[in-house]
Amino acid sequence: MQSPVPVKHFTPEEMTPIFEVMRRYGEDERNKVNNKINQHLLITIVSDDEIDQAKNWGGSFPNQFNKEQRLRFLLNERDHGQKGFNPGRELHGEVKALYSDQIKTLMSDFKNNQKTKYKYPIVLVYSHYIPCAGVPKLGYSCSEELMNYAKGNITNFIMLVAYSTTFKNTDEKRSFDFMRKGGINAFMRMPNGSYAHTLKVNPPNSIDVITRTFQREAYVCISKCFTSYQKDRAAITTYFINYLTYQCISKSKATGLFTELSKNQLKECLKKELDKNVGDDSVQSSKKNKKSVQYTNSYFQLCFNRSIEVSRGLGRPRSNLDEPDWEPCQNRNWNKIYTPPGPRRNKDKLSKMVCENRVESKESLLEKNKKPRNKWDAGQCFTFFHDMTLKVYCKKI
Ligand SMILES: [Zn+2]
Repeated sequence: MQSPVPVKHFTPEEMTPIFEVMRRYGEDERNKVNNKINQHLLITIVSDDEIDQAKNWGGSFPNQFNKEQRLRFLLNERDHGQKGFNPGRELHGEVKALYSDQIKTLMSDFKNNQKTKYKYPIVLVYSHYIPCAGVPKLGYSCSEELMNYAKGNITNFIMLVAYSTTFKNTDEKRSFDFMRKGGINAFMRMPNGSYAHTLKVNPPNSIDVITRTFQREAYVCISKCFTSYQKDRAAITTYFINYLTYQCISKSKATGLFTELSKNQLKECLKKELDKNVGDDSVQSSKKNKKSVQYTNSYFQLCFNRSIEVSRGLGRPRSNLDEPDWEPCQNRNWNKIYTPPGPRRNKDKLSKMVCENRVESKESLLEKNKKPRNKWDAGQCFTFFHDMTLKVYCKKI
């Protein structure tokens, strides 16, 4: 395998021919669909030889690029309706490409192609608009997603982005910050058709080391509702957290550390899982219990959301699924963090009482000095796991 191509190799003179080929290809494809929109995205993976040869291509890709399907052309999508991707807003091409494994497929094709398999992969992204950042209410930033994909992959590939302009709602500085962190070099097309190297950066050769994991933070937070020692409680709580986390990540296409998008997806899914798995105790059911279940649910949700914010990434159980010990995860694919079949609904493990807690107010559990807000907050609550359902009842004291 060829060693990494150094950044100094990618001069504007060297890059201009291939970027121009990419731009023309993207514009032609876009115009076939709709010539009233601006944005188009084209992704390909090439070797340094191919970049060199592009000046002799006569302005368009050689046939084998189409034949071997080495190009991915993407448009933004309105009304995509996809859960987890902010259905009410546009789905951008970068996110589509990353979360549907299109770049992954390009990469494995590159590595299996006789002509390129020993070459260092150079991922080229041409986007009319610079990969977005901080667009109000979009719920994700394409530049952050690209960073998350590229970060720490210097030995595997390098990513170069070219663009024509910046969308008015994009925070250009943030876009550059994300790309810089990912070691992504950026080139902007100038009015004379040449490209300026607007972001020159040496890729980092390692990914950030994190010490806090989401699951451990969630465990600490949820444990705050316990006031007395209870055998197996730690084990059951741990298993519960592992179970819910597994439900949310085993089919996820997210990778690496948290991004705005993957955090939103995880929060949304955990909320759904809590609604499914935190229930009322049928024996004790009453209006009052309903309130305490709602309360427990919202407290756990608060714990989860807070844990996502303070931890930056997921962990992998260090020993087994009921030991509250997670090692920060270097595994880049979320769906490979837990070894299948993962934590299952297991009656032996989950039918025992998990905690007898005195639930005060939500705030007081996090900051001890605040006073309970209402009578139910000051009640004595008992919480059980039964058939994988957390059951709670409270009595007034
Ligand atoms: Zn975007």
